[in-house]
Amino acid sequence: MVSVMETLTIKTENKFRTLITKQAYKKGEVICAMPSENIMDKPNRFTVQIAHDRHTHVGKLAALNHSCDPNVILDTEETLMIARRDIQKGEELSFFYPSTEWEMQAPFICLCGAANCIHVVAGARFLPLSTLEHHYLNPHIRDMMIELLNNTELHLKKLQEA
Ligand SMILES: [Zn+2]
Repeated sequence: MVSVMETLTIKTENKFRTLITKQAYKKGEVICAMPSENIMDKPNRFTVQIAHDRHTHVGKLAALNHSCDPNVILDTEETLMIARRDIQKGEELSFFYPSTEWEMQAPFICLCGAANCIHVVAGARFLPLSTLEHHYLNPHIRDMMIELLNNTELHLKKLQEA
């Protein structure tokens, strides 16, 4: 497999970082392995969530920006970055942050301009199922979503019984 660093380059403009690909990819193609450099129990701006209470530094991939219509997927189970559609040489790479992040440490307003833009990017727990179901989601996000739904149902039952 190609190493992460050779085919990707970080561009910095006004302190805003973007990750650019130096080559084209076909939909479904593996772009690189997702680095896992340092695992911690709390998220920060440079981490990707890989399990319920595990966040990992992803090296150069920390420069990946969020998009509501992204061109790559981070598969945290296989630890791979995969092309979600055909990608041109020179394109900026982006992924859907809530596909890995349950509750982000630094939420922000999205200005991606996509028709399906979620506007507030704060993590999957703040999005309705009707939005999430249109996106690739990693297993830990699915699990936490099911847990949240079960807890809500339990809570509603208790309210009705009270
Ligand atoms: Zn957006």
